[in-house]
Amino acid sequence: MKQEYDILVIGGGPGGALAAKTAALAGCSVCLIEKRPAIGVPVRCAEGVGEELLREFCEPDPKWISAKIDGARIVAPDGTTLDLKPEMAGNEVGFILDRKVFDRELVWQAAEAGADVFVKARAVDAIMQRGAVAGAKVEYGGVQRDVRAKVVIAADGVESKFARWCGIDTTVPMRELETCAQYVLSNIDIDPHKTVFYLGTEIAPEGYVWIFPKGERTANVGIGISGRKSGDGHRARDYLDAFVRDRFPGGKKTELIIGGVSVCKPLESTVADGLIIVGDAARVSDPITGGGIYNAMLTGKLAGQVAAECIAAGDTRKAALAKYDLLWRESRMGKAIARNHAVKEFFITLDDRKLNDLLSSVKNINLDEFSTLTLIKELIKRNPRLLLELRTLQKIIS
Ligand SMILES: Cc1cc2nc3c(=O)[nH]c(=O)nc-3n(C[C@H](O)[C@H](O)[C@H](O)COP(=O)(O)OP(=O)(O)OC[C@H]3O[C@@H](n4cnc5c(N)ncnc54)[C@H](O)[C@@H]3O)c2cc1C
Repeated sequence: MKQEYDILVIGGGPGGALAAKTAALAGCSVCLIEKRPAIGVPVRCAEGVGEELLREFCEPDPKWISAKIDGARIVAPDGTTLDLKPEMAGNEVGFILDRKVFDRELVWQAAEAGADVFVKARAVDAIMQRGAVAGAKVEYGGVQRDVRAKVVIAADGVESKFARWCGIDTTVPMRELETCAQYVLSNIDIDPHKTVFYLGTEIAPEGYVWIFPKGERTANVGIGISGRKSGDGHRARDYLDAFVRDRFPGGKKTELIIGGVSVCKPLESTVADGLIIVGDAARVSDPITGGGIYNAMLTGKLAGQVAAECIAAGDTRKAALAKYDLLWRESRMGKAIARNHAVKEFFITLDDRKLNDLLSSVKNINLDEFSTLTLIKELIKRNPRLLLELRTLQKIIS
């Protein structure tokens, strides 16, 4: 590990990998550090990603795809189902990845592009110089060392600490932190090409249960609930166990993960002097679904691009790096996050009766495409009062 690089990337998830690869391809010297001993494990994800979105970065490769998804089902609290069929397939259906392989492949690509990669290398503090971020203190091989960089890209995930060490408030309000539990469940009867989502305050308060197939009879079966609804005896895992007992009594649990997903607004600013924040660390996961793989990849790529440009121009101050902040906010992803946050705030106010009514209203329709946006538009068309309530809410929260 050298003492100085153009760019230091903290975290070897999809955000960090894309940032490192992009910056290295642009000719920068790049160091990526990952605190875990191996990239991609343990997996803390349901691994679903839209096909079209993924294709913005790479050709899908069978070796990191566990299942191809061509439809989805949403189940209301009263059991009413909304089926989104293959012909409506759009952004929200696509692949269930094998992230153990996928994340590793992305980091290999960064290494191939010229980035130095170190595992079991943990950032433990920021190096600040005249108010600007100038690198990180890194524990590696039993030694703590200073690694200096013109730009640090913080890609350290939902539990991110780096930005906080640089003086940025990254707190996620408890009610906007979904606490999640997930089993890889085998020996279960599922449709191996369909994702299923269960809604309802009894099943998953302010969240949902998902079934994401990983094979013919195996799936990621998980749940996210609002942090404010979690407590002794009613944690995410308790709700998940109840669901599994009820729906899949013969299921065999072959993996358990516990994790968090932020469904809040993104950080007010995702740049500072010498610093860019990407992916979950920037709080850019989707506030409705909690999905953040694509969002991390996009912000990672933009961060790598802008950091390389700014280094070439000799200006890595906040004002110059702000181009990154602007680019992602103006992207389709940035606009979707802003809209979906308002929609999520509205949906969590609904009781089960209202949820049943809403889903019944769109039960027999044919959507042109299955995307969150198309579904919301259809719900509003069939429930004009919804638009009014959403507008009022948007005014209150903005
Ligand atoms: C239960 C669950 C289910 C999910 N399901 C989906 C889904 O189906 N689809 C979807 O799109 N998204 C899903 N997500 C979200 C998705 O996993 C994240 O949005 C995505 O991984 C974000 O990528 P990232 O690169 O920002 O962060 P991460 O993938 O979290 O990577 C951050 C990396 O930084 C490392 N790190 C942290 N601190 C340090 C440090 N100090 N020094 C060095 N390294 C450090 C970590 O070890 C980690 O490897 C889910 C999340 C959870 C918890």
